[in-house]
Amino acid sequence: MQTYRLSLFVFIITVLTFSFNTSAYGQSASDSFVIMIDPGHGGRDSGTPGTGRYKATEKDIALDVSLALGKMIKQKLKNVKVVYTRDKDVYPTLNGRAVKANKKDVDLFISIHCNAQPGKKGTAYGSETYVLGETKNKENLEVAKRENNVMALEDNTEVYKDFNPSSTEFLLSLELAQEEYLDHSIKLARYIEDEFQVTAKRRSRGVKQNIFYVLAYTYMPSVLVELGFLTHKKEEDFLNSKKGKDLMTRSLFNAVEKYLKYLNVNTKDVVFVEETPVKQVSSNIEFKVQIAASSKALETKPYNFNGLSNISRNYDANRKLYKYYYGGASDYNEILRLEKEAINKGYESSFVVAFKDGKNIPLIDALKTIAN
Ligand SMILES: [Zn+2]
Repeated sequence: MQTYRLSLFVFIITVLTFSFNTSAYGQSASDSFVIMIDPGHGGRDSGTPGTGRYKATEKDIALDVSLALGKMIKQKLKNVKVVYTRDKDVYPTLNGRAVKANKKDVDLFISIHCNAQPGKKGTAYGSETYVLGETKNKENLEVAKRENNVMALEDNTEVYKDFNPSSTEFLLSLELAQEEYLDHSIKLARYIEDEFQVTAKRRSRGVKQNIFYVLAYTYMPSVLVELGFLTHKKEEDFLNSKKGKDLMTRSLFNAVEKYLKYLNVNTKDVVFVEETPVKQVSSNIEFKVQIAASSKALETKPYNFNGLSNISRNYDANRKLYKYYYGGASDYNEILRLEKEAINKGYESSFVVAFKDGKNIPLIDALKTIAN
């Protein structure tokens, strides 16, 4: 009996220790932070051929930049581990890429691609970074179609039968599974697009949302980067040049470094990162920190929320859930400060949400509104 009790006690302690060692980002305190780099396409899938003036296609440029980025991270950043979905000219399936990321306990997933403009115009140029989300924009839908369509060429298309971006039900389940990662994904995406502009002096087409398979099925913050258009002659020249690849690699590295520093702030480390100030124009946007969701209607008193006051509650009829928010601010930097506070109070999977005239709207749209 005594032995049994003792082993039960040891078991409970082990479980507790294990859960407290794991931070909000799925990163275990003792392990390194794992970044998975996913060079798009590969093998028989060459991606966009661009203008056809170069032998190298999308798959080659994506691989070059991915390997260079991984190398730079390994050389310069401590406690960060880099893994790849592919490190040579082979084709891992889209499903295979996502499965690998989830299995390896990846903390951050970066998929690297090059863009193409349909038709013969070749006028579109600039970089784009995507996070997961529904879009109604025609051009964006074209990009998703092109990147997702490779699944049709795979041998086992059965695994994709539930992937249905036009179904409301599918989108709702996706949102539920992914919402806690979204604000971190947006954070990195903004750093990346800023860096492309400042460090590589490229035209940024901005942070966008789309339903990409590899973003939908990786359960961690994840972004998909379109380095530029290979159908645009000048941009194709740039991305095929050593200088171009170096600049894009350096930009991606700087963005990753900023993101890691930002997380350290969240995890109570000492590094302070200066936020790019977000201009405040629209006053009817309000940001809040979502700290919890539950089927129970709790009173919004500090004793129910680890001492946090200024808690508000909303009922989400779609999901039959009460959502609990901490704080409220029209200033994005202020809400990031409150998010850190909530995390430090034990709400490790807190994330920022946005409201316009009291209605929940996508965070990315709110950020666009206040930035314009
Ligand atoms: Zn691609």
